[in-house]
Amino acid sequence: MRFTTKILIATLFTVMAQMVSAQNSAAIVEKKVNFGYATGSPSRVINAVIVHSTFNNSGGDFYDIDLVVRQFSRYGVSAHYVIGRDGVIYRLVDEKDVAYHAGKSALPDGRTAVNSCSVGIELMTSFDEGPTEAQIKSLTSLVNDIKKRHKIQFVLRHSDIAPGRKTDPWNMNWDDFIKGID
Ligand SMILES: [Zn+2]
Repeated sequence: MRFTTKILIATLFTVMAQMVSAQNSAAIVEKKVNFGYATGSPSRVINAVIVHSTFNNSGGDFYDIDLVVRQFSRYGVSAHYVIGRDGVIYRLVDEKDVAYHAGKSALPDGRTAVNSCSVGIELMTSFDEGPTEAQIKSLTSLVNDIKKRHKIQFVLRHSDIAPGRKTDPWNMNWDDFIKGID
């Protein structure tokens, strides 16, 4: 076999392997921030996942990840993950660190230090638009992955833990999403 042919075949196999791994888990794009979180530790106990909605409401594209991150920086908040309209998962904060996403809130068992025991996930949606199919698919695989790595007691909406104060995630069929997770 000619050398160029061997290279071609090797490349083909690499591309196929990447396609298979992309099907199994949504791509995660690193987008680490230096604000909106406290340094935690690898032994941090995580037993809740909180789902939010966010969009850039400061002018320009609602769903531009860089504008959304800039908005977070102005408020000094963050989440571990933000999921774009196309289903791309951006990682802003490592799970071992405590992201400031929940604010004044309480879990169903009464615990109020929600940030310290949770992972926060933001879906880019607006007051008018719900999540896309790609977003729900990525959210489902991300939550399933988190559930494999941590003993999760609660998967909740921001509005569940801060009723009256928060209404997100907006325009989402929550029951269908819950039925879809492992
Ligand atoms: Zn929220």
